[in-house]
Amino acid sequence: MTMQSSYWETNRVLSTADLLIVGGGFTGLSAAHFAYIKNPSFRITVVEKHPYGQSMASTRNAGFACFGSPTEILADIEFEGIEQALARVKIRYEGIQLWLEMFSAKDFDYAPDGGLEVFHSTESSIYEKTLDKLSLLNSELEHHIGCKGVFSPSYGINDSLCYGIGIAGEAGLHPGKLHSSLLSSLQSKPIAFINGIGIPPLEYWIKKKGVWHIPTASGWIISEYILLANNAGLSELTKNTVPGRGQVILTEPFNHGLPAGTFHAREGYMYFRTLGDRILLGGGRDAFRKQEESMKPIGTKEVKLYLEDYLTTHICPGQQVSIAEHWAGIMAFTNNQQKGLLSKYLEDKVLTAGRMGGMGVAIAPRAAQDAVHQLLS
Ligand SMILES: Cc1cc2nc3c(=O)[nH]c(=O)nc-3n(C[C@H](O)[C@H](O)[C@H](O)COP(=O)(O)OP(=O)(O)OC[C@H]3O[C@@H](n4cnc5c(N)ncnc54)[C@H](O)[C@@H]3O)c2cc1C
Repeated sequence: MTMQSSYWETNRVLSTADLLIVGGGFTGLSAAHFAYIKNPSFRITVVEKHPYGQSMASTRNAGFACFGSPTEILADIEFEGIEQALARVKIRYEGIQLWLEMFSAKDFDYAPDGGLEVFHSTESSIYEKTLDKLSLLNSELEHHIGCKGVFSPSYGINDSLCYGIGIAGEAGLHPGKLHSSLLSSLQSKPIAFINGIGIPPLEYWIKKKGVWHIPTASGWIISEYILLANNAGLSELTKNTVPGRGQVILTEPFNHGLPAGTFHAREGYMYFRTLGDRILLGGGRDAFRKQEESMKPIGTKEVKLYLEDYLTTHICPGQQVSIAEHWAGIMAFTNNQQKGLLSKYLEDKVLTAGRMGGMGVAIAPRAAQDAVHQLLS
């Protein structure tokens, strides 16, 4: 039950800042990091509506530090053209490099074991078509991110997912540890964190002498600049953004026999990875599209069964597997097929940096760096 606010709570100033960052996920926290570097004397306040250490997506994802599987990049090229598609691969790649500059790999269990896109035995023609384009993709990637021979023909993992394409340079990481590394590094700086408060929509804000006054359930927050790094929360503010729930399951430890790494299937709609002797599996949003346009970070029985079925039919057929955990997080997408983060001024000195889709583990720090530069320059 939510407590009603008292007069004393709402009639006071809770925080006065130069920069208010709405959202305490990877984007908001890395924006705080870059804003502090840009201007150490700035008063920065980060407001997150969930408890400290939690977020809607950043602490609930699958932890793929990936810049795109071959079929995903090819689909993007077909939809939006090569320059735009490859520009995003570059931003994803640069984002991962930024994490590695900010923290040491062991801080967030960064494991560059490589990735594998797998294809089902019925997908031989898609596999062949993808193989035909590999050298083109490799030369484009070399040109855009400077890495040679990223994709290479490989084997699948069993008779069901029997074809594969290796992805060099892809890694898995521990999103919870990355998030807490960010929080710890920011705590040593003069940055205020306010958790448990939702920033209301723009129509409730008041501008006085060039400074925004925002009413919240716990008092007014005052700031000149505002960065909306609230990802799926942007769906409540902007027309073209819709929430997309993602669900994952994690097995109990068992002898899965997979090599360590990250795996993609069905143009990225299914993904799984090893976590020592466990498997983490997520996806299936394409099969539950309307139902998963939800802002509720709660796993559903239908999607859990769907993921379990994929696990036991295609990843480890014939093996006894128990599911230890199941959870959900909320992403943000466009309401058409287009990908791309939303970087837009909604008002003077109010910028958005959100709508990261299923790529924010990689993109977030790079997008945050750009947003801070844009807003504060
Ligand atoms: C199941 C799942 C698997 C995924 N797997 C991967 C993956 O393997 N690799 C990858 O790159 N990406 C993955 N993603 C996507 C990735 O997690 C996100 O793109 C990324 O975390 C977005 O970070 P963010 O900081 O922009 O958003 P968030 O982490 O959602 O942070 C935004 C925060 O804003 C807060 N907020 C919203 N509205 C308000 C308000 N009005 N007032 C105050 N606070 C507010 C929310 O509570 C939220 O915590 C996955 C996502 C999910 C759900």
